[in-house]
Amino acid sequence: MNALTVDVEDYFHVSALAPSIHRDSWSSRESRVVGNTQRLLSIFEHFDVRATFFVLGWVAERYPQLVREIAAGGHEIACHGFSHRLVYEQTAEEFHEETLRSKNLLEDITGSAVLGYRAASYSIVRESLWALDVLVELGFAYDSSIFPIRHDRYGIPNAERVPHRMSTPKGKSIVEWPLATARILGFRLPVAGGGYFRLLPYWVSRWGLASINRRDRRPFVFYLHPWEIDSTQPRVAAPWLSRFRHYSNLGKCEERLRRLLGEFHFGTARDGLMQRGLLAGTVKTC
Ligand SMILES: [Zn+2]
Repeated sequence: MNALTVDVEDYFHVSALAPSIHRDSWSSRESRVVGNTQRLLSIFEHFDVRATFFVLGWVAERYPQLVREIAAGGHEIACHGFSHRLVYEQTAEEFHEETLRSKNLLEDITGSAVLGYRAASYSIVRESLWALDVLVELGFAYDSSIFPIRHDRYGIPNAERVPHRMSTPKGKSIVEWPLATARILGFRLPVAGGGYFRLLPYWVSRWGLASINRRDRRPFVFYLHPWEIDSTQPRVAAPWLSRFRHYSNLGKCEERLRRLLGEFHFGTARDGLMQRGLLAGTVKTC
């Protein structure tokens, strides 16, 4: 079972646009996260698929009813931190404080334990692996923040590609499900979703993801943001590379997602890890 995951945040939280959008302006901007997430929920319902929603604490605090609605659909609620600050720009103390705040908030809203964590913009990199120890301390069972590629903002280029239990710098261990990459001519092609899903032709994503299932005989983790199916979102003035990454093919994303859901088998990250014996418990949705 592949993991379908959603990072629940608004278009103005995105790291690619962060230099152009001051945090102080977040509350006064038009929020579209509720409607976009509800649209994803209805697509998932249509395909009878359950997903993992990594919810940003900032969003959960303002829209607790949205978190309840996601959970009521049988989906997994997991944690996307509170502030969307990059992990490697925080001290361990700051990271501990904001991650605990977000986890507590999500658990209070849903009444269920939050097991999974995903960092803002995959910012657990070699220099911030200390964050895994904080996650263990806070009781997370798994992390899905390591992108095993080279990128200007994130990535550990030679990290493991498959879900596995890994050691932390302090000698503890945590389950890691890295973002999906396909092997091609000795290279790693990021096919995990998001901007890659919008920028690459659909058949390339499909080929890459199928090769992980068939050739590697492994499940993959796929991600999307609610704003990626919202082609009429307010435009932000930003440098061309940021605009290219954020706005390319927004209008094609929903239709591609529907194709993907029809062509692959998906479930929550928690259930996928249980199925592989990496987390204790039994799979409820399969
Ligand atoms: Zn994010």
